Amino acid sequence: MSTTEERQEPGGTAGERERPPAWHAQPAEEVAEALGVDVERGLDDDDVARRREEHGPNVVQEAEETPGWKLLLRQFADPLVVILAVAAVVAGLVGDIKDPIVIGVVLLLNAGIGFYQERQAQASMSALQEMLTFTARVRRGGQVAEVDGSELVPGDVVLLRGGDRVPADGRLVRAKGLQVEESALTGESAAVDKTTDPVDADAALAERTNRLYMNTTVSRGEADLLVTETGMRTEVGRIAERLREEDDDTTPLQEQLRSLTLRLAVVAGIACALVLALGLLQGDGFGEVLLDAVALAVAAVPEGLPAVVTVTLAVGMNQMAKRNAIVKRLVSVETLGSTTVICTDKTGTLTLNEMTAREVVTHGRTWQVSGEGYSTDGEITSEDGDELPDARDVFLPVVLCSDARVEDGELKGEPTEGALLVVGLKAGVDADEARERYPRVAEVPFDSSRKYMATFHVLDGEDGGEEPVVLVKGAPDVVLPRCATWWGEDGKEDLDDERRDRVREVVEELSRGGRRVLAVASRAMDSPADGDADEDALAEHVRDLHLQAVVGIVDPARPEAADAIATCRDAGITVKMITGDHKVTAAAIADDLGIEPEALEGRELEDLEGDALDDAVERTGVFARVSPDHKVRIVEALRERGEVVAMTGDGVNDAAALKASHIGVAMGRSGSDVAKEAGEVVLTDDNFATIVGAVERGRAIYDNIVKFVRFQLSTNIGAILTIVVARAATLPTPFSPVQILWVNLIMDGPPALALGVDPPDPDVMRRKPRDPEASVLGTGRLLRLVWIGAVMATGTLGVFVWATLGGQDEAVATTLAFTTFVLFQVVNAFNARSETATAFRRHSLANRRLLLALAVVLVLQVLVVHVPLVQPVFDTTALTLGQWALCGAIALTVLVAEEARKAVERAVRR
Ligand code: ATP
Repeated sequence: MSTTEERQEPGGTAGERERPPAWHAQPAEEVAEALGVDVERGLDDDDVARRREEHGPNVVQEAEETPGWKLLLRQFADPLVVILAVAAVVAGLVGDIKDPIVIGVVLLLNAGIGFYQERQAQASMSALQEMLTFTARVRRGGQVAEVDGSELVPGDVVLLRGGDRVPADGRLVRAKGLQVEESALTGESAAVDKTTDPVDADAALAERTNRLYMNTTVSRGEADLLVTETGMRTEVGRIAERLREEDDDTTPLQEQLRSLTLRLAVVAGIACALVLALGLLQGDGFGEVLLDAVALAVAAVPEGLPAVVTVTLAVGMNQMAKRNAIVKRLVSVETLGSTTVICTDKTGTLTLNEMTAREVVTHGRTWQVSGEGYSTDGEITSEDGDELPDARDVFLPVVLCSDARVEDGELKGEPTEGALLVVGLKAGVDADEARERYPRVAEVPFDSSRKYMATFHVLDGEDGGEEPVVLVKGAPDVVLPRCATWWGEDGKEDLDDERRDRVREVVEELSRGGRRVLAVASRAMDSPADGDADEDALAEHVRDLHLQAVVGIVDPARPEAADAIATCRDAGITVKMITGDHKVTAAAIADDLGIEPEALEGRELEDLEGDALDDAVERTGVFARVSPDHKVRIVEALRERGEVVAMTGDGVNDAAALKASHIGVAMGRSGSDVAKEAGEVVLTDDNFATIVGAVERGRAIYDNIVKFVRFQLSTNIGAILTIVVARAATLPTPFSPVQILWVNLIMDGPPALALGVDPPDPDVMRRKPRDPEASVLGTGRLLRLVWIGAVMATGTLGVFVWATLGGQDEAVATTLAFTTFVLFQVVNAFNARSETATAFRRHSLANRRLLLALAVVLVLQVLVVHVPLVQPVFDTTALTLGQWALCGAIALTVLVAEEARKAVERAVRR
């Protein structure tokens, strides 16, 4: 993308701010001096405090919150509101003054509700932003500390490694095998090599190879970064405004509803014109007819829909966050609900990631390891109770080739390493002493595509001299081919084909028992490894190894995982396990959990293309020995088949797969910053069941939006039909404009919000996933709504005509019609909660807020009808108890009509 200084600058805004000095052209020492810091020690606390005062927190305000007044004004910017206001004024001029005043008040109330809803949405969103914080490891006062990314100041020395997100702009003071992915800034997705060497002063941003920039990510290697700029002074800070513009987050549903609202506006326009024309033809006054027509428009157009959707999604996001799933964007809430396939990691997500070694195969035999968890109590014995000979020699490599520590029975570090370390401790190796005595000279760190780890040490030789060694632990299928000898019954033996087969069989057998199997190996070298050599050069030494032992480790399944998988099955969601572990181990665990155990290895995928690939991906439940590239292939093949895919990821290299899926799910605890950046959802507990919970929530939220759409549209259709039919039949309009506005106001408010938080329907996870392409208002649904609207119109007009014919006052007739219509809405709220299930079930009482909201509506209606002060405003008159009962009885017909419709549909479907 842009490579010149000019093009980096967003629309001139950054250009106005002072540019940082050309740190990249200066040697690291000079930069440190200029910033007044000793990089070996870092800043002291009072230094940090002073700098924080001066530079402020290290945060980039990506989206400015809309100020309250703007939000309030926006509520009036709706064209319908404007038309209504104008019409009210016109009507006020030609008619009486009451209507414009009432309309004004109603508009204000309406704006108030809208304002409150949007504020609530905003608050939920910013609460979520705060939950997604990143920490940084810094050197301060000679110690390494973990601090919140926002607390960094210029002069801080940040320690980075593969997978970290760069927390501020800085100059490298140390770099080893460092590669950084800067696409967030430069658009270039290939990782770039970084070193500490100075570059030309006029080098473009992408060429400043000794600078790291905030929000880019470390792909591999290690580095110490001297922070030079923080917060809004960083490069991302400078382009924050541009990011802000790009971040238009409209969901497909919001899009659909927007166009639906527009289409309804057209229908309403036609209805208005009709009412206007009919009214004028019938000789009514212009002001009165105009007001009627416009009020009809307002009642007919569900202008509150988009706002309710936003609020419902935002509130839903908050609920998900409380249940350990942080969803970053509104759109993901919707997508989650339509997920058809969940591709999940195994270790830590389906399992507890609490590893305990159970078997050790060495000296030609299998030995059992007793003891639980990370306690070092336990023994390594054969079935006959023999003790493992040379146990210390076998396990010294395991202890040295490991970063884990066990303190007071608690593990610090990776569980796989922990399990191995614990067998070493049980074998009598003193970890602290061994690590101090034989320090690590060099290492090839573990990574999930290499699948092993190697460290280099100098041990004591048998002849009293020094013995440089390489120690290795890793997946047997990677380590075994690199082995030349093993520890047989009679000591060191060549690994001929037969013995190799025996090892493979042992591995296979352990794997079938669901064990994670690791091999431990070592080799004496002629000379110590070069500590400065890069990983690839060091990896060359991993050959001709001596296989010390094969270890079988259990990692129990999470107790809730099997249930969550069963829930998925009922919900029509396929679960696929994607793991770096051995095929047989993975298949055994999958089988236990209820996942299709048919397994495929990542490399087998490489040979498949087109339909064969699609078929394989469809059929397979377990993908084993998968590297990050394979994950992308799996996601793409599934997408090709039209699946909506959620894919989990934690590693540095998982970003591509997370992005390729519809919903990237990053592990919040074990995951790297890179994965957390790339994911749409971050799990704070790394638990598979949480994903399923989020999908359920996603479905429930979508359902609630649909409930509200149905509820709102049936009111709209009911109102249109009532008014248009009345006009067409040359009846007087059964309710006044103010009454229509009243219905609109009270129904947009409390009941809408209450439907938005409706608890999930009991069958929400027993249905097939929703087709994400399906229209929210398909023909079937529209017809059902017209059915409800027709019942409401018939009832309302019926009572009106009955009262008029019965010689009742016009005021009584309109009050009856008005009250019946309001009660229709109250009853219809129960209909709206399910499109197919009967309202006569316990779930109908589950939403207390809705019951309360409807009670409030009823009380308000009683007040409007009976309080003498407001009667003239609403053109109402007091009703008798009998008349109330009549309105109520008529309103119940909509329940009967809907129950009948649902029963017929259910019967037909069966
Ligand atoms: P997941 O199921 O979440 O993909 P995984 O732990 O099975 O996770 P990786 O972490 O990619 O997958 O590990 C792949 C293989 O590498 C493991 O099966 C194991 O044999 C080996 N391995 C795992 N951790 C280490 C480690 N710290 N050192 C050496 N080898 C390891």
